[in-house]
Amino acid sequence: MLGRILGIIGGGQLGMMITEAAKKMPENISKIIVLDPTKNCPASQAGAEQIIADFKDEKAIQELAEKSDIITYEIESGDSDVLKSVEGKSEINPSPETLKIIQDKFLQKTFLFENKIPIAEFIQITSLDDLQKGIKKFGYPVLLKARRDAYDGRGNFKINSQEEIQKAYDYFHKKNLMLEKFVPFKMEVSVIAARNTRGQIKTYPLVENIHEDNILRETIAPARVSKEISDKSEKIAKDTMNVLKGAGVFGIEMFVTVNDEILINEIAPRVHNSGHHTLQSSETSQFEQHLRAILGLDLGSVKLARPTIMYNILGSRKFKGEYQPIKISEPNVYLKMYGKKISKPQRKLGHVNLVAKEGETTNDLLQKLKAIKDKIQIKELFAPQK
Ligand code: ATP
Ligand code: MG
Repeated sequence: MLGRILGIIGGGQLGMMITEAAKKMPENISKIIVLDPTKNCPASQAGAEQIIADFKDEKAIQELAEKSDIITYEIESGDSDVLKSVEGKSEINPSPETLKIIQDKFLQKTFLFENKIPIAEFIQITSLDDLQKGIKKFGYPVLLKARRDAYDGRGNFKINSQEEIQKAYDYFHKKNLMLEKFVPFKMEVSVIAARNTRGQIKTYPLVENIHEDNILRETIAPARVSKEISDKSEKIAKDTMNVLKGAGVFGIEMFVTVNDEILINEIAPRVHNSGHHTLQSSETSQFEQHLRAILGLDLGSVKLARPTIMYNILGSRKFKGEYQPIKISEPNVYLKMYGKKISKPQRKLGHVNLVAKEGETTNDLLQKLKAIKDKIQIKELFAPQK
């Protein structure tokens, strides 16, 4: 069979790394087209053809479907109804039904609850009165969350006391909301899981995620937890994959509570930032795995060859604008920049993977990361002096 044409909704760094993986499989994928509103988006720099339009532009999605044999996405905010309507023109993975459930946190949590997957208690909020009642039930602190289109914690409001209730409610300007019990966690972890169109499921080993200001900063692979905890998390990830329909890679974020319980925080129906370590740590990266899954190929190995730390390179809080190129040449340190011209505070501009050499431990990697942090700081590019 000749290679198929792959359409991707979203051409940011995830779309870019999917494109790069696809280019290495020319016998399976002959061409990549991305839909993204930003001209010269990261994926187009990696060789994808681009349709420049908003992710939710119905006409553009139809055009993408007409031009592609198979569609996938790197963002979960796509319009699942529009995607459903073009399913006849192109295969779509993960399925629009799964996207619809996942992109609404309340529907997602309801789905997980109904399937007996462990999560924190939650309720839907449609009025201030609901909120008062929910807080009475859950106590403080508690998290008020926007049901849709949240990222980097921007859809969350932590309510610490009665005085903050009104402020939290007003913050969301009548968006659809849910309230969730606060989880006292000792660690955040995640599992990158894949299922192919034939139902084969594989999960990468559990990793540990460190967030700063709600943004993922660092992923440590494997997570520094007991075997019991990693086995338990893996089982929960597998149970989740068994009930969730659709092919592709999924990022399953979880909490390890102070009582060593595992609760799912949320699922992303796509490749995930906490899986970037697989580019070097594993035989099959999450990007190749995603393609193998949606194309119905056998899934590749998920074995972690060596401990690896992924560190995100984020835009400096001090400026918005062009930045100095980052140069680093250290053995076993792999820099990946996403080709974004402009830095903005906290914008994800790239990442580094630090891979352990024979005999090196996670602690050694943490020391090494400390030593190179200055070299991978984003610094403003000043116009050359005349
Ligand atoms: P992201 O883009 O990182 O996925 P998001 O906006 O979708 O973020 P969540 O994933 O719901 O938001 O939460 C972001 C962070 O807030 C979590 O990583 C966790 O640190 C914290 N958090 C979320 N829910 C809870 C909870 N119920 N209890 C305690 N902390 C929580
Ligand atoms: Mg989230």
